[in-house]
Amino acid sequence: MKYISTRGGMSPQGFSDILLEGLAPDGGLALPETLPQISPATLESWRGLPYAELAFEVLSLFVTDIPADELRRMTRAAYNDQVFNSEDIVPLRPLDGGLSLLGLSEGPTLAFKDLAMQFLGQVFEYVLTQRDTTLNILGATSGDTGSAAEYALRGKHGVHVFMLSPHGRMSAFQRAQMYSLQDENIHNLALRGVFDECQDIVKALSGDIDFKTRYKLGAVNSINWARIAAQVVYYFHGWLKATTGPSQTVSFAVPSGNFGNILSGHIARRMGLPIAKLVLATNENNVLEEFFRTGVYRPRTAAQTYATSSPSMDISRASNFERFIFELVDRNAAQVRELWAQLASQGFFDLSHRLSDIQGKYGFAAGVSSHADRIATIKSVYDATGVLIDPHTADGVKVAREFVEPGVPMLVLETALPAKFSETIEEALGHPAAPPAALANLESLPQRVDVLDCTLESVREYLVKHAAV
Ligand SMILES: *Cc1c(COP(=O)(O)O)cnc(C)c1O
Repeated sequence: MKYISTRGGMSPQGFSDILLEGLAPDGGLALPETLPQISPATLESWRGLPYAELAFEVLSLFVTDIPADELRRMTRAAYNDQVFNSEDIVPLRPLDGGLSLLGLSEGPTLAFKDLAMQFLGQVFEYVLTQRDTTLNILGATSGDTGSAAEYALRGKHGVHVFMLSPHGRMSAFQRAQMYSLQDENIHNLALRGVFDECQDIVKALSGDIDFKTRYKLGAVNSINWARIAAQVVYYFHGWLKATTGPSQTVSFAVPSGNFGNILSGHIARRMGLPIAKLVLATNENNVLEEFFRTGVYRPRTAAQTYATSSPSMDISRASNFERFIFELVDRNAAQVRELWAQLASQGFFDLSHRLSDIQGKYGFAAGVSSHADRIATIKSVYDATGVLIDPHTADGVKVAREFVEPGVPMLVLETALPAKFSETIEEALGHPAAPPAALANLESLPQRVDVLDCTLESVREYLVKHAAV
């Protein structure tokens, strides 16, 4: 399996080569040269496999430059009941109205990003050890992604994590989650500023090529192909749990932001998994819903991006979207370059003449959910079933209900647990959501964090002193 770039300017590379990079050298995103195809017989042979073994089967199609026994060891280390709070790793629970909930949030940080990050942590450690090198992951977080990365990389050889967060602007639970980690390779830097300033500092330091090379800076952002590949696994798992035999179809509803999660569903569908619809749900920031409804992609500016009660979906441009467009234009890299040039010059591109393929051949449907919808949905699901869902998952449920078809199970991806967003739960139900028992005393644990001025210089100095080189 070799990987190429959506912009057409990268010679084919192996999985391990693209693993540690962000964008391809030509500014595009890496994708498999051809997608593996899964026959109905192979799919049936996977029925009943434990999650870690299914992950091995799926990931071995994408990871062909790591020995099978090593890959199997990694999927077992990533997906077990020591790491996930469920023997199934990803449980499936019935809701009302033909919907089920695919529980992607049983990992250490209570959100779906753990599923991909736990594998990423294993494979980073393996490749860095093989290559006898180190990496200093530099990132900024307002809560979610940073903690998933820290929990996946804590204690791993060859990698240090430097995570910038805005001092005093995260919830007590989020702070406790990150700052209570005592591992020496995890560095929490609370900056006296806001998230965007933290992000700008990361961009500036990673954009300084000399500094980046000298201090071996890397990232684990949502465009990383290993994360997309690891997420493909749970679409197969969800289908296998919701069906009893070959060629039955299932739909998935996905609360979306950067288009990473649902892109993995698209990949699974293209590999032959019988998916009827991929239902994309957005909150008030509906740049993706607009595209899947009209064929026009019009990213927003930061000023046009609302702060909502499903904050992990508050995005203005979808960083993984280019991978879907590459497929939509039949892998014509010149056309991708042309479309992104149009984005830069006129602020949008128009593929409305391809709407019948987008919705038909590729099976996408889309809808929007508002704050009032989230509140009403959290309450209605709780009243009907006793199941408490988080605000992001509520966006998924609200939109999923618009696309349920008779005889086709609709699996809503649970992207976080309600305890992470307790304020909104309280607004919907009048009482907060309790954290899982194992985390009940998280906020009383000792915390490890360095508070710095929010300047490029202070972070640079910190890295010079603490980065592994
Ligand atoms: C990251 C995140 C999303 C959005 O996922 P994308 O892959 O960016 O589309 C949705 N919900 C939660 C809780 C998240 O953390």
